Amino acid sequence: MNRAKKKIYAEELKEIKKKLEKRFDCKITSNKDEASIKAIANVLDTLGIKNKEEFMKNVAITIYKTIYLPFEFGCLTIDPLRQLELVAHELEHVLQWEKEGVLKFSIDYLTKGFASKSPLDPILPDTSQC
Ligand SMILES: [Zn+2]
Repeated sequence: MNRAKKKIYAEELKEIKKKLEKRFDCKITSNKDEASIKAIANVLDTLGIKNKEEFMKNVAITIYKTIYLPFEFGCLTIDPLRQLELVAHELEHVLQWEKEGVLKFSIDYLTKGFASKSPLDPILPDTSQC
């Protein structure tokens, strides 16, 4: 990919992110900052997940109206289509949180699995697991 094309992709992805956040009234962020790490760690503690560092490196998670990705959305080292695919999947969870409420959704998360693999993983997101 040449530099000019990369720039277009980066800007398009930024634009798409803004539109999705507005449309779904949510936030799409990476799990790299301290506040995000804390929020996710709390949930993982509740779920009894021990290897938090490994989880955060590989897995996307949606907590209420925030989608935490294990990378910066729009980064060009990951295929833009795979990023969009993952975000589309996580947006379903935003809608589920909204529709089912925090309690029911939390129970489903606990009993049916709760997160999708990141596109960093060579395996496509396994929707049956989330
Ligand atoms: Zn999922």
